[in-house]
Amino acid sequence: MSAISGHCRHYGHTLPNAEGLGNPTCAAGVDNAEAHFWRRCMPKTSDLYAGSCSHRAEYTPEEVEAERLERVASMERLAKGMAAIPPPGPNKGRGTSGEVPCHVCGGTIRWARARSNGHLHAYCTTPNCFSVME
Ligand code: SF4
Ligand SMILES: [Zn+2]
Repeated sequence: MSAISGHCRHYGHTLPNAEGLGNPTCAAGVDNAEAHFWRRCMPKTSDLYAGSCSHRAEYTPEEVEAERLERVASMERLAKGMAAIPPPGPNKGRGTSGEVPCHVCGGTIRWARARSNGHLHAYCTTPNCFSVME
């Protein structure tokens, strides 16, 4: 779970959902099998169960800010990466593919448009740089 979302830092998607399916314990090892206990892990605004878990721990303001900055940087990488890829051309570019220099890191972006609908799949060969899947 992300710092920005406001969930407890021990929360994860493996916790039981509304149907009771999922991992019965969170990352802190707290048993969440009881119906609706997962709600105490939610952002504080949904405070029906606020204070009902002594293991709850918030992300620090520094962690929240770091994630916000990374999201901004990620959006900038996305915009630059997309700008490097040739426009689709006729027939939505169905079945076309290629490689272009990455405007973000100087690496290589590999891209392909699906034969069926022209949707773009692309990624930079540098880990954690840029990727998109329409
Ligand atoms: S609030 Fe408690 S039960 Fe929920 S994720 Fe945090 S530590 Fe686990
Ligand atoms: Zn790159």
